[in-house]
Amino acid sequence: MKVLKFGGTSVGSAERIKSVAELVSDGERKIVVLSAMSGTTNSLEEVTRNLYKKDNEGANKVIDELEKRYLDTVEHLFSSGEYNTKGKGVVSTYMEYLRSFTVDMFTVYEEKAILAQGELLTTALFYYYMQEQRKSSVLLPALDYMRINSKNEPDTRYIENNLKSLLEKYNTEKVLITQGYICRNAFGEIDNLQRGGSDYSASLIGAAIKADEIQIWTDIDGMHNNDPRVVEDTQSISELSFDEAAELAYFGAKILHPTSVLPAKLANIPVRLLNTLEPDASGTLISSKQEKNRITAVAAKDNITAIKIKSGRMLLAHGFLRKVFEIFESYKTPIDMITTSEVGVSVTIDDDTYLDEIVTDLNKYGTVHVDEDQVIICVVGDLVAENKGYAHKILEAVKHVPLRMISYGGSNYNVSLLINAKDKESALKALSDKLF
Ligand code: ASP
Ligand code: MG
Repeated sequence: MKVLKFGGTSVGSAERIKSVAELVSDGERKIVVLSAMSGTTNSLEEVTRNLYKKDNEGANKVIDELEKRYLDTVEHLFSSGEYNTKGKGVVSTYMEYLRSFTVDMFTVYEEKAILAQGELLTTALFYYYMQEQRKSSVLLPALDYMRINSKNEPDTRYIENNLKSLLEKYNTEKVLITQGYICRNAFGEIDNLQRGGSDYSASLIGAAIKADEIQIWTDIDGMHNNDPRVVEDTQSISELSFDEAAELAYFGAKILHPTSVLPAKLANIPVRLLNTLEPDASGTLISSKQEKNRITAVAAKDNITAIKIKSGRMLLAHGFLRKVFEIFESYKTPIDMITTSEVGVSVTIDDDTYLDEIVTDLNKYGTVHVDEDQVIICVVGDLVAENKGYAHKILEAVKHVPLRMISYGGSNYNVSLLINAKDKESALKALSDKLF
């Protein structure tokens, strides 16, 4: 059994919803995970922001716009009067629910419930469309099986057991439709897997049911070997390993959410990135197989801040790095890259919410220097030590670019370079020219 996830743009209009319905109706049994129609979750976030500010009028305005868009979708989606009425009814019900918070109480608990409405509404419309087309399907409510624990980690046992009983209950159904992104938390309240979390949903579902394959459908032909927004003539990568995919997803390739690689990797379930606009193209296959002797791809992560701490006290001292890391930990700020010398350490962060506090604390341990507007260039491939000459090739390609940090050897698959944002385009182009 396969798990197929369709992102917001793939269900972003009546036309796109129709193509997805066609695509999933090949007679094979599968779980179809849907995101909310593109832009919906952003709008719902705007609604909650307005509600927090007690700007009920503002919230209602966003809800009105959302309603207009969904009603328009219903109009174009259904051909029969019966389903048109049903679809409009469903849209109204959801919108009335959203509006209820502009008159009733609104707290942080309701925020998560509001954010969940996009996926719920999109799957409801999709299910009605399948019915209208006389394509048999069933809705698997994500809130009945997807759960995170008190540490905000997926409760895998619970997910497995509950999905198992649902699959048994519907053991002859071919198309099982479910919501991405949404879940319950340890208290049973509605929660979510963070923005962009539908990929994670698909991966968790795939791992839980031991799927044959997890398919992530978007509207590009798989993962590219460089950033197509910056470099012309990038190529889609036909195969890459879980480790390479994880590095690329984390360091900039937008096509796959970084959290979604791990569950698939642990359960060893291949992930295929496919294109709804070109459904027959083979896309990118991510599996445990590592291609040898090649550099696979380059990605860039923007808005990075580099922090250098220099201290005579680091010399021959132990415990210095621990103290430095503890400061970042106390502000829940993850570190991406690290380089060290005997008298200093440089780290990068992409969340600078607590930068001032971090710098103040670090000042106790040495001289601190901050560089903003940095970019991490991440090169992935078969970069084990024995594979000589690749690091040289990479550095040779960017010899015209000032390098603030270089990180090699952290894994067997990655070399990361930290450069100024203004040099990003030139670095990415040079790497494509020299490496591919
Ligand atoms: N709808 C959610 C979001 O926009 C989840 C997703 O699309 O993956 O973040
Ligand atoms: Mg996405």
